[in-house]
Amino acid sequence: MTYGQLITDAVRELSTLEYSDAALESKELLGLALGMDCRSAEFEAKLWEETDDDVEQRFFEFCKRRLGGEPLQYIVGEWDFYGKTFKVGKGVLIPRQDTELLVDIALKEFEGCRNTAIIDLCAGTGCIGLTLESRLMGVSLALVEKYTDAIEYLFDNKLRFGSQARVVKGDVTDESLPRQFRKADLIVCNPPYLTAADMKDMQTEVHAEPVEALYGGEDGLDFYRDIVRLWKDVLHIGGVMLFEIGAAQGQEVSDILTMHGFENVRVKRDAAGNDRAVIGYRKK
Ligand code: GLN
Repeated sequence: MTYGQLITDAVRELSTLEYSDAALESKELLGLALGMDCRSAEFEAKLWEETDDDVEQRFFEFCKRRLGGEPLQYIVGEWDFYGKTFKVGKGVLIPRQDTELLVDIALKEFEGCRNTAIIDLCAGTGCIGLTLESRLMGVSLALVEKYTDAIEYLFDNKLRFGSQARVVKGDVTDESLPRQFRKADLIVCNPPYLTAADMKDMQTEVHAEPVEALYGGEDGLDFYRDIVRLWKDVLHIGGVMLFEIGAAQGQEVSDILTMHGFENVRVKRDAAGNDRAVIGYRKK
């Protein structure tokens, strides 16, 4: 049996999963079992070689976990976001490509600025804040996260990128938490925003992620209401509040910001054409 044949078998099995790119995932998992980058020429050459028992065993174990509904990203243990590789695993939301839009928007807003104070609320892996810190000049960054499991990944990623960020363990809906912060130029947040209905027809892989990172209350808007109310005064006048949203939440989240005195509130679309972000400015 060669590694190539092993891949062929795995593709057949993984194709039974409802949402999977079986060919890509089989390669990722074999790369992991071999300790090789599956995009390398070395890996391609390896496919013609006879298998080693230990590698095969590891590979089967990974495939079994994947077939049990565990996301590929958790098995691999890291995932790319905006050109950097973040540590991920059980207990933290996997960085999604959709979320790169928030980074694009923030980079445009603060391009050329030198001393930007940023607070990333519900930071998870830290992918948004840490990416901004690395791409802008002179950022002072605070990362706020409530859950111990997620905070471990947050610290790992902070270390991985040599970040100066202050990590704060706390609940963003706690009335007293905002007082611990100096005024910021940007508050960015990808809060849990799935509705009760969304939670019901979620795909298996998403079920493996922490429900606390996904569920935003019956209408999905609980965090937007609390965060805008509690954190708006932490922004400098003219400062930016930037949220990721669900595709159907553009109007409601805009209304929440407007109601709390934000101006120039706009909804932004992602590459797929869905409403994905809302931005607003603290009134002058
Ligand atoms: N976009 C995520 C999903 O559909 C939801 C993430 C979130 O609630 N912030 O699974």
